[in-house]
Amino acid sequence: MKQETEEQQDFVKEVTKMSDDFDKWYTDVVRKAELADWSGVRGMMVVRPYGWAMWEAIQRAFDDMIKESGHENWAFPLLIPRSYLMKEAEHIEGFAPEVAWVTKAGGQMEELEEPLAVRPTSETIIGAIIRRYIQSHRDLPKLTNQWNSVVRWEMRSRLFLRSREFWWQEGHTFHASAQEAIDEADLILGYYRSIAEDWLAVPVLAGKKSPSETFPGAVHTLTVEGLMRDQIALQMGTSHYFGQNFARAYDISFSNRENERELCYSTSWGISTRLVGALVMGHGDDSGIIVPPRVAPIQVIVVPIFRDDEGQAKVRRFIDSWSGDLKHAGVRHRVDWRDGRPGDKYAHWELKGVPLRLNVGARDADALQVEMVDRLTRQKVSVPVAGLGERLRKELEDFQRRLFDRAMKFQSDHSYELRTLDEVVAHFRDRGGFVWTEWCGDTDEEARIKAEAGGVTIRVIDESAKVTGTCVVCGRPSKYRVALAKAY
Ligand SMILES: [Zn+2]
Repeated sequence: MKQETEEQQDFVKEVTKMSDDFDKWYTDVVRKAELADWSGVRGMMVVRPYGWAMWEAIQRAFDDMIKESGHENWAFPLLIPRSYLMKEAEHIEGFAPEVAWVTKAGGQMEELEEPLAVRPTSETIIGAIIRRYIQSHRDLPKLTNQWNSVVRWEMRSRLFLRSREFWWQEGHTFHASAQEAIDEADLILGYYRSIAEDWLAVPVLAGKKSPSETFPGAVHTLTVEGLMRDQIALQMGTSHYFGQNFARAYDISFSNRENERELCYSTSWGISTRLVGALVMGHGDDSGIIVPPRVAPIQVIVVPIFRDDEGQAKVRRFIDSWSGDLKHAGVRHRVDWRDGRPGDKYAHWELKGVPLRLNVGARDADALQVEMVDRLTRQKVSVPVAGLGERLRKELEDFQRRLFDRAMKFQSDHSYELRTLDEVVAHFRDRGGFVWTEWCGDTDEEARIKAEAGGVTIRVIDESAKVTGTCVVCGRPSKYRVALAKAY
């Protein structure tokens, strides 16, 4: 047991400081906070229970939202015949470089008649299947979703952000009118915004993608974009409106009220385990990660402090006397009874980002109080155990709000307003963040921004904003207000 404690201590020491090397810090904390690891299968990660529990909290929240608005969960096949995938030209062109194929099966490794794609996303197979269940306008809308994993053959990998397999939800909906499908894509974007801001405490820019960043086969793509603490943007969820493109490719039609055949209007949308990466990069610090209470597997960690068996028994009785109160108040808590020094335990739970820690010793038992330590401010206060559950519930709500405010301030502090391409290029030479500017809509000029400003892209078009100035590249009257950033 002794040895394990010392290893634990080494573990914490090994974390690179965020301020020294953000990329290395990220990998260190994701692995050492036991969120995820590489699996031994190249480019594929294993999500460990602490990270998976965060994903489960996101799943529950989002699943509740979509069920409330009439969506239903399905399970569609993992493998997609090549012929299905080939039907929508733009779509397959977009995904071709990343598709993994099954070409052989059985003990003799026999060649399959038709190669099967491991789904990179399921528009094509869902389209081919769902058409059976849609005959008339009375069968619409069809609001489907599935929770699954998909495979994209990435060449560069990063835990949670880019791996050959990741977990997500993919929603696919079919409607009788364009407006209804457009409204659906907007509705889901609102849900994604709520997941990012209300649950993960990461403020986002929400808006439309530029044509070059639009999903292959879509008419338009909506996105929510967060700013990580290295000032690089992260796309946190996308919602696509397809018009009739997919319905045409897969012949998904219905008889409308005039009894004429009409093609459906469809959408698709997804959020993934990438969001766990977002909360790590959106809130962490040199000591580790900071988990927003609403998705925290452990919201309150209790560290007992004692010298001998007698002291331990006393502290245990004391903790037992109020831990039911915490459970009753809905506070997810755990008592760290492992062998080891309290100081090592503090570092361990700081690294894992548990919002509140209670230090509890024999003297606290006598005084009927606990010492509460805040992961964000590091402040210590004594709190009476009378009404502790309710107090902690309120403290956690407050923590969630403070975490969001801190991230919002970071976003505001790293948002800029620039007018010319020269200014943009100079800005991104040594800084990041969101740069707001205006653009005429010319896609060649968009490519020029990317080439000259070191990979900077248009993250969102803010369609609600009025444009008053001139294009950042050509100086002609602008059409769109856009946010530029480097992005993951
Ligand atoms: Zn222009």
